[in-house]
Amino acid sequence: MPASQKSDWSAQKSAEYYGLPRWGQGHFTADDTGCLCVRPLGEDGPSIRLADVLAEAEAEYGLRPPLTIRVQDLLRRRVEMLNEAFHRAIEEEGYAGHYRGVFPIKVNQLREVVEEILDAGRDYDFGLEAGSKPELLIALSQLDRKGDILVCNGYKDEAYIRAALLGIRLGREVILVIEQFSEVDAIIKVSREMGVEPKIGFRVKLSIAGEGKWATSSGDNAKFGLTSTEIVAAAKKLKRAKLGQCVKLVHFHIGSQVPNILTIKKAVREAARFYCEIRKMGFNLKYLDVGGGLGIDYDGSRTNFESSMNYSMPEYARDVVFNIKSVCEQADVPVPDIISESGRALVAPHSVLVVEAVDRIVKIPEVEKAKSGGKKQPLLADLQYILDNKDGHGALERFHDAQQKKDEAANLFSLGYLDLPTRAKADTMYWQICADIYAKLKQDGYIPEELENLGALLAEQYVCNFSVFQSLLDHWALDQLFPIAPLQRLNEEPTIEATLVDITCDSDGKVSEFVDLEDVRHSLRLHPLGKKPYYLGFFLVGAYQDIMGDLHNLFGRVNEIHVFLEDDEEDGFYIEETIKGFSTDEVLDFIQYKGADLTRAMKKQIDTATRADVVKPREGVRLLQLYTDMLKQKTYLSPASKPAKKAAKK
Ligand SMILES: *Cc1c(COP(=O)(O)O)cnc(C)c1O
Repeated sequence: MPASQKSDWSAQKSAEYYGLPRWGQGHFTADDTGCLCVRPLGEDGPSIRLADVLAEAEAEYGLRPPLTIRVQDLLRRRVEMLNEAFHRAIEEEGYAGHYRGVFPIKVNQLREVVEEILDAGRDYDFGLEAGSKPELLIALSQLDRKGDILVCNGYKDEAYIRAALLGIRLGREVILVIEQFSEVDAIIKVSREMGVEPKIGFRVKLSIAGEGKWATSSGDNAKFGLTSTEIVAAAKKLKRAKLGQCVKLVHFHIGSQVPNILTIKKAVREAARFYCEIRKMGFNLKYLDVGGGLGIDYDGSRTNFESSMNYSMPEYARDVVFNIKSVCEQADVPVPDIISESGRALVAPHSVLVVEAVDRIVKIPEVEKAKSGGKKQPLLADLQYILDNKDGHGALERFHDAQQKKDEAANLFSLGYLDLPTRAKADTMYWQICADIYAKLKQDGYIPEELENLGALLAEQYVCNFSVFQSLLDHWALDQLFPIAPLQRLNEEPTIEATLVDITCDSDGKVSEFVDLEDVRHSLRLHPLGKKPYYLGFFLVGAYQDIMGDLHNLFGRVNEIHVFLEDDEEDGFYIEETIKGFSTDEVLDFIQYKGADLTRAMKKQIDTATRADVVKPREGVRLLQLYTDMLKQKTYLSPASKPAKKAAKK
């Protein structure tokens, strides 16, 4: 490929190509030096170069990618934005109730994340949502003010209910949301035993099905929620048990990342109808909880495509407030306080995963050109003709001819009529022809359907030092798209069409679909790898990915740093917290291998070899040391160039 002309390329062009202005929403920009910057407070706020953060993480703490960078001020900003959006909507609509948001812990359970959200949400009386006993124990410990809201969802046993009532005894607004009919009896029983009045919500199974990848959270087949029949029965049962006054809340959740605002409006209206009707049955409901679902525009297209959303956060807040108000007015029922459980929208933007591209896999090897002259093998001569005869035939015809010759080469090779070097030449020429055809088609601006795949086939693969299964699970499991961009060299034109592969031994460990304004891209233009490390950022990964990642191939957790804005520092930030990725012995411990046992087993083998004089004693000691050193090292690849003295920093 031709060298890029630096003069007519700019960091702004890169920003445009990688979609920064669209999905970054003012939080991610490129500067004139070609570095990608984060602006935690938005467009007009201070900016931090991610490359500077990486440099400090390595220099001060010895932490290299794969590395998660948490931008704590951006997390705070999102909490403020959500609360402000609802407060503004309430004011604009003249809504008589309040907004009380809660953060669903399952979306990111990390202590520093939960603490930051609660701290930023203090002035807004922001609470928590728990979906399991461990999450409930986290929430109880973190909410320490009278009236703090804690919404309890998920499947509940008696122990779960007991812990929730403990919170009520301490003055928290803990609401047990009934998801299964059987929970009614359990709540009645436990509250009698403890002598504590519960606060109860009903999760309703709405008829409207969600939309997007998580659509099965609602509708008739959802595994959560009460049908209208069950709600009527549960209400009666609670009344008979003299707990009618404890019913406080109606809840729904139609699934995460709802791409279409129409779905949300319809769901809100249906749930508001439940609220009104249950009130009319004589229950003094206080809250309507609209669940999660508020999306993130991962591709920045502002469409109802799965990885996008066709609305904004303020629009969401306005539609929730307006529709509840209008349904309540119609039914002549006082409006509820509104609770929402937005998780993804709060935490996705604050976290960036940085990985290093360490190698590339190319289709057309950079080997010496086949020498011309001499007697050419007929098949190679045919391929050479197709390669040289650029204008004679149409693209499709050239492609078909080349395909035929490539198949012939494979057949002749299998039958023993073609040697390996000739087969290799044939393959290389085939890919050269394909590249040639594709370049020409792109120039002409029209690509026949049969050849649409060619670009993806020709793309190089950049090998990145990370595991999709650990750090990007939703991409593998659900094809969810995350925006990706280099952190440096943005003022150079990216010239290489590439896809990404990880270092797991799994062919699914790859990223071959990328965000685009329309549909998806099947390759991403990147820079040629050079002497300096080449870092790629995966953006908007702060929701769900951390905890759902798994130990495939035993790579485990990556390094992590938490960054704060700091005016007094020259580069505008400081690293407050670091969390080391798993070492090999930590990962092995999960599957019941103890480092000491493994070392003993190795020592036995080495002793045997020494006794048999296969290994000299001194070498035996060195071999054992090599093994035990590795147990302490990181699971991911470490750079070959760095001598051991640097890595030893503790
Ligand atoms: C997962 C979940 C949420 C969070 O949804 P987001 O789309 O991430 O905001 C909220 N409520 C319930 C009940 C959930 O299960």
